[in-house]
Amino acid sequence: MALKLLNLLVLILIVSIGANSSPFDFIKNLEGCRKGNNTKDIYKLKTYLKRFGYLGHEHLSDDNDFNDNLELAVKTYQRNYNIKPTGIIDADTVARMTAPRCGVPDIINGVNHMQSGSYYAFVLNDKWMPSNRHLTYKFLGNFPDVAKLPAAVAFQRWASVTKFTFSEVNVTQKSDLTLEFFRGDHGDGYPFDGRGGVLAHSFYPTDGRFHFDLDELWFYLLKDKNSFDLLTISLHEIGHLLGLQHSTVETAVMFPTFQGGETKDLGQDDILGIRALYKL
Ligand SMILES: [Zn+2]
Ligand SMILES: [Zn+2]
Repeated sequence: MALKLLNLLVLILIVSIGANSSPFDFIKNLEGCRKGNNTKDIYKLKTYLKRFGYLGHEHLSDDNDFNDNLELAVKTYQRNYNIKPTGIIDADTVARMTAPRCGVPDIINGVNHMQSGSYYAFVLNDKWMPSNRHLTYKFLGNFPDVAKLPAAVAFQRWASVTKFTFSEVNVTQKSDLTLEFFRGDHGDGYPFDGRGGVLAHSFYPTDGRFHFDLDELWFYLLKDKNSFDLLTISLHEIGHLLGLQHSTVETAVMFPTFQGGETKDLGQDDILGIRALYKL
């Protein structure tokens, strides 16, 4: 009996540790790090910053030296997230870097659109042509039925502030956009990372792919602080499908990080962004 109880306690402990851990947790151990330090896992921080566009491949060294390039990358990250750009991994930086987020990089090909002068940002040449104002989408794989409605609602919400219209087509038909759930490495060069970390990603026009991380806990309408809102994340990723980049405005749906239980609608910044991109 006592042994069974012990087994149960161990199991509960493992489940609760699993539920609270995130692939970004290593950053917590780096709090206080600054230029000149050499600490375990600094190279993982470099990999993290490279993944989101802050360090070019040429600046990625396989060591734990907190060098000039890393300091520069941390300062740029801090500016993008409205944190004082000290280059030091302070508590605010740790909190933001460990937050679950969209997998789309903040900086594309070395261009930091988050600091382009406007709050919203977009990739100028990555947009749908005027002849493409009606876009079709389809759900691929074993797409859960419960996730189809929030995605459809998100498409209609973007339609309400633009000249775009959207409609679902059958899986056998050709479509402009595709939505799918994947776990881990799924063959597009941007593997998902288990629970926490990256929640979803999508590709700029006219690629049209939108992927959710199957390992996350998701909710729709029934709010749960340990899960992520399918509608909010759909609004965000559809923003990318239409050509919007990440925003520095924390209330904008295009802000890159999310908290469990958080719900967001399109903000003024998102609407200004899409209208500027398509000259509406
Ligand atoms: Zn994003
Ligand atoms: Zn993917």
